[in-house]
Amino acid sequence: MKFLLKIIIICLVLSTQFPVRMVANEYASEIFYKIRTESNLSSESIGSYSKGCLAGGVYLPSHAKHYDALKPSRNRFWGHPDLIEFIEITSEKIFNEFGSGLLIGDLSMPRGGPMPYGHKSHQNGLDVDIFYERKPEYQLDRFKLETYKPKSLLSPNQREINYELWTDYHYELLKITSENESVARVFVNPLIKKKLCKKAADINDVDWLSKIRPWGGHYNHFHVRLTCPVGSQNCINQAPVTQDDGCGSELQSWLKKDKLFESNSTKIKKWMLLSELPNSCRKIIRD
Ligand SMILES: [Zn+2]
Repeated sequence: MKFLLKIIIICLVLSTQFPVRMVANEYASEIFYKIRTESNLSSESIGSYSKGCLAGGVYLPSHAKHYDALKPSRNRFWGHPDLIEFIEITSEKIFNEFGSGLLIGDLSMPRGGPMPYGHKSHQNGLDVDIFYERKPEYQLDRFKLETYKPKSLLSPNQREINYELWTDYHYELLKITSENESVARVFVNPLIKKKLCKKAADINDVDWLSKIRPWGGHYNHFHVRLTCPVGSQNCINQAPVTQDDGCGSELQSWLKKDKLFESNSTKIKKWMLLSELPNSCRKIIRD
């Protein structure tokens, strides 16, 4: 009887501990999350936005004259040099035009890869979140950088734009951002896309709208995605957007949904395996 009990206990221990440890070692998000520094390889975006990694990541400093980058403790301020340059150029342009800088959110982890929480994409150093709220005039200290909560552009009932906050600045901010030729797509909440469509139609200015894509969430920030950089041979672009302004049936179908405020980050396939990423991502985690 004692012997049988021993066998049962051993089986229980093996069935709970051993397989978990075996599989856990391969979970890509855990592996990439634990690596706190960039690789020594030359810069390259590898794979796709939602299944990729980043060689030779470059970090975005927390402070600059034209922007502050929030939540540095998350260590998600790394990107391909093209992305860092895009942020610097865009924030300077906005500063020069409107007298205020940008608040920047997450880019990628030091070597890209899937994250254990928060985003499905942002994996190959070409995605960045930018808040709609302007950078305050004072420089945010370390505590403020971690705790600052930029406001949502939607009303408290989340069924329309918050007109106390929305101004033409937001229209221009999104237009200037999307007109950069390295930008592939800009994701905004469907209600914000609707507002842009309305204003653009009113002033006969619809040509720039095709890159602005409606997506759940994205009410206090928009998400900018760059095209694959020259020289990143293993980077996979999304199909380019069409010339359609996206203000018709696609937007309408989004607006019919109940959950305009949930982003796809709530449906992250958290436990992507290393073997699901491009082969060259294995080299990224070694060098
Ligand atoms: Zn994002």
